[in-house]
Amino acid sequence: MAELLDGIRIRDEIQAELKPRVERLAQRVRPPGLAVILVGHNPASEIYVRNKVKACEALGIRSEKLTPPETCGTAELIALVESLNARDDVDGILVQLPLPAHVDTRRVLEAVDPDKDVDGFHPLNLGRLVSGRPGLRPCTPAGILELLKRYRIPMAGRNAVVVGRSDIVGKPVALLLMHEHATVTICHSRTSNLAELCRRADLLVAAIGRPAMLTADYIGQGAVVIDVGINRIGDRGHAEAIFGHDPEKMAEFDRKGSLLVGDVHPRDVARCASAYTPVPGGVGPLTIAMLMANTVQAAERRLGLCSGSG
Ligand code: NDP
Repeated sequence: MAELLDGIRIRDEIQAELKPRVERLAQRVRPPGLAVILVGHNPASEIYVRNKVKACEALGIRSEKLTPPETCGTAELIALVESLNARDDVDGILVQLPLPAHVDTRRVLEAVDPDKDVDGFHPLNLGRLVSGRPGLRPCTPAGILELLKRYRIPMAGRNAVVVGRSDIVGKPVALLLMHEHATVTICHSRTSNLAELCRRADLLVAAIGRPAMLTADYIGQGAVVIDVGINRIGDRGHAEAIFGHDPEKMAEFDRKGSLLVGDVHPRDVARCASAYTPVPGGVGPLTIAMLMANTVQAAERRLGLCSGSG
């Protein structure tokens, strides 16, 4: 039986460890502060931001939501970021992506003070990641590493295959695995022999954005599989093609009208892998936990109360 790598349990562990650090900051100086910029009215972004604000509340982190209108331009957003950079009570700044098409996202992200860059997207923090120096790491990849370490999954000397090369997930997770001494192969849409490369992986990370794409053909017997993908299936025929083997899931589809599925086929991964992250309940919960961890880390650094972690 494959072992389920439970992201919810690890999230709860991480948050329980953060709580006393937040309390210590609050007692000695002030609680950590996170500012979230949410431009316009993207429904998915609104849900993500709501969940981030809720996580802050649960931990005692002070959060602040700034909601400039959809029409806000690059220069105005940079000015807003700079005003947050200058504020002493703000330790972390998060610009919720995607920004509207007319905004130069790169310039806005580069305006964030690297010491407050809790998403880890600033080029200075990316450089620190590449060279293995301490710095704020992108949340989803950092969460994956936490999960692997807390489940004591060996990485050194293992063949890790990462499918996906985005700046947010694929590239940083590949770098983090390399720093743990895995032998890393990065695959993408132009990779030939994708199935063959994936089958050779001891550790397979899927960050593609294609529902249930990695089937049994792609999963080596006994591999550890990390499924980063979050895809919503709204078509019953499509859901049936993926979850036809699972009456409970189909009942859930009929109740909710849609289902979430990762990039790895849920039936095949349970059959082939030795351990894997489910979707939902795997990598997803860790992203916000690591955002909280980055905010606490940024606050400790800025207030001179480092706890020695990160
Ligand atoms: P992107 O679309 O930015 O990147 C997808 C990557 O997959 C690209 O590198 C692309 O290759 C590659 N790819 C696409 N199709 C194929 C294919 N047929 N064969 C091989 N490679 C392919 O996505 P993200 O990295 O932002 O996200 C990936 C998934 O992870 C999504 O489902 C997203 O929702 C989810 N996600 C989940 C998070 C969480 O908290 N759990 C956080 C962030 C993302 P190429 O570069 O050649 O185009």
